[in-house]
Amino acid sequence: MTRNVLVTGASSGIGLAIAARFGADGDQVVITARRAELLARSAETIGARGIACDATDPDQVAELVTRLPEHVDVLVNNAGGNTDFDRATPTDLRSFADAWRANLDANLLSAALVTEALRDRLAAGGSVVHIGSIAADKGAGSYGAAKAALASWSIGLSAELGPRGVTSNVVAPGYIEHTEFFRDRMSDERRTSLIDAAHDRRAGSVEDVVGAVHFLASADARHVSGQVLHVNGGAFVTR
Ligand code: NDP
Repeated sequence: MTRNVLVTGASSGIGLAIAARFGADGDQVVITARRAELLARSAETIGARGIACDATDPDQVAELVTRLPEHVDVLVNNAGGNTDFDRATPTDLRSFADAWRANLDANLLSAALVTEALRDRLAAGGSVVHIGSIAADKGAGSYGAAKAALASWSIGLSAELGPRGVTSNVVAPGYIEHTEFFRDRMSDERRTSLIDAAHDRRAGSVEDVVGAVHFLASADARHVSGQVLHVNGGAFVTR
């Protein structure tokens, strides 16, 4: 069965790989991001439809929804990243507040906005998957706090959507290499320490995350909801 799939923040990295996997299944895939040119190139590469949209902007999200199919089977809230990487270190309370709001907007509000806009159009038996982070459990300032809040919100969303047969889950990656996430700021020492922290002594790949998302959106995962699926090689463990 062909599904309608929306992956936010999918012009690069994890989101693009997720979108490509659904596309390979024959699903109708829409991808979004802010940088329109890169988005268009990426969409063409994987045979998806690209719609430029800042997921933190209510007006742009409302406009996005008017251009989507009547029913969406799979929503992947992937848009996000650590906005501290693009900002100067705060020097006073005002810039500190701005930095916190930026991470909360990028990683929490973005998912809440897109989901709210699509709430009534999520198809029965559908799936919502949010991309969280190991940072939610290991701590990473406002970025980790935003990803932790995302996981908390997903629990309530699961309860709200469950009666319609729609699941809500988080996939929480550890260190995933070869994306734009770290900009050019990853030192060799930091990379080595992240790899050493994983039981399998390797960095994660985008494909590791794709597999988890694909499962949660599959027929095999209809009774899996309100969960966090960690993809980190053991760098953070749960019982
Ligand atoms: P990338 O920077 O490669 O991808 C981020 C994507 O999101 C880009 O397409 C970017 O495009 C888009 N994006 C960012 N902000 C917005 C926004 N406000 N509205 C719409 N699109 C947006 O990084 P990753 O692929 O690594 O990151 C994907 C997700 O995975 C993020 O949520 C990140 O927090 C999470 N993650 C990543 C980890 C890693 O190690 N790489 C580890 C744990 C979690 P554009 O800038 O054009 O909008």
